[in-house]
Amino acid sequence: MIRIPVYLDYHSTTPVDPRVLEAMLPYFRDRFGNASSRNHEYGWVAEAAVESARTKIAGLIGASAKEIVFTSGATESINLALKGVAENARSRGNHIITVETEHSAVLDTCRHLEKYGYRVTYLPVDATGKIQATQVSDAIAGDTILVSIMAANNEIGTIAPLAEIGRICRSRGVLFHTDATQAVGRIPVEVGLMNIDLMSFSGHKMYGPKGIGALYIRSAHPMIHLSQQMDGGGHERGIRSGTLNVPGAVGMGEAARIARVEMAEETIRIARQRDRLVSGISAQLDDVHVHGHPTDRLPNNANITFAGTTADRLMMDMKDIAVSSGSACSTASPKPSHVLRAIGLHNDEIQASLRFGLGRFTTDEEIEYAIMQVVRTVKAARKRAKGTDRTYVQQVDETRN
Ligand SMILES: *Cc1c(COP(=O)(O)O)cnc(C)c1O
Repeated sequence: MIRIPVYLDYHSTTPVDPRVLEAMLPYFRDRFGNASSRNHEYGWVAEAAVESARTKIAGLIGASAKEIVFTSGATESINLALKGVAENARSRGNHIITVETEHSAVLDTCRHLEKYGYRVTYLPVDATGKIQATQVSDAIAGDTILVSIMAANNEIGTIAPLAEIGRICRSRGVLFHTDATQAVGRIPVEVGLMNIDLMSFSGHKMYGPKGIGALYIRSAHPMIHLSQQMDGGGHERGIRSGTLNVPGAVGMGEAARIARVEMAEETIRIARQRDRLVSGISAQLDDVHVHGHPTDRLPNNANITFAGTTADRLMMDMKDIAVSSGSACSTASPKPSHVLRAIGLHNDEIQASLRFGLGRFTTDEEIEYAIMQVVRTVKAARKRAKGTDRTYVQQVDETRN
């Protein structure tokens, strides 16, 4: 089956799984209670649903339910983790370590903290987008309070060596936060095995609804303390005030339950489709470069530079394929992708790059259709460029240098 436009932008957001929607609907209708209403049935029903969701989410990542705090999304979780720890640990130190290729939610929060006197080290990555655990170890100083490293990159899919980094942080007594928004539900993430202290993730990247997210906060060995960033009614044990998004939490819980059951099988199918997309395109086009790590990568990601084209024009010419150039999260500010720059691409290569993100509802027919559309569109764009000026030839020559 092919659904037009073919959706290949699963890193930006995922559709809500129909089973998730079904689970949520009653909580918009007769089960509309406030989960903190302690005096009647409506409140009890809502609270029970939230606690059941919390247990399912915890189960997916190897945590216990009391270690999950609901937020409005990964951006809020990241802000709460980084600012909350920074504020709480101020007397112990002011140094934070992160990576150049993080999502803007992490980078902008770090820049905010720099304005308030914190010192931030932004570690570089290699040409595959990979960070080595030894870089983290070398960067830790006496005043380091927090290491924040994303589990999997949202543009090029490269996966970080979380377990190794976690081990280093634990042995050096530094807290470890990971932005696992692209990883949770797609690849196994175990907070215990990986010595993760805090972890941010989001409903709408794992077939749940938008507007709900979670922050995992380790409750023992060691117990993590952070300062709340939202003052109010003391919800979520005082860590995140504000009436709970009950349908959202229920939806994220159901999404976590499904991911736990289906992830292993789904990963294999999606990786096969992704490999077919890449080989189908590469077989018919010269000068295509696939980014990210050859093996340590998300199963659903393919970020490809088509030398001699521009992504904006390609996307305009193939409106029935929904992909993204750079990171959709930053399309409000059309700057060249900081991730592609960090792995060493030049501006013209960055502008010639498309990000494909596959997912649960991607079909084999859609992949064949996308291959055909991409090949046809890139060939036409290159022909046009060749006919009108010498840009194509020049750009291809540059990338060979
Ligand atoms: C989408 C995304 C975010 C932001 O998540 P929201 O829930 O939309 O706030 C943060 N980090 C990464 C890696 C993402 O992909």
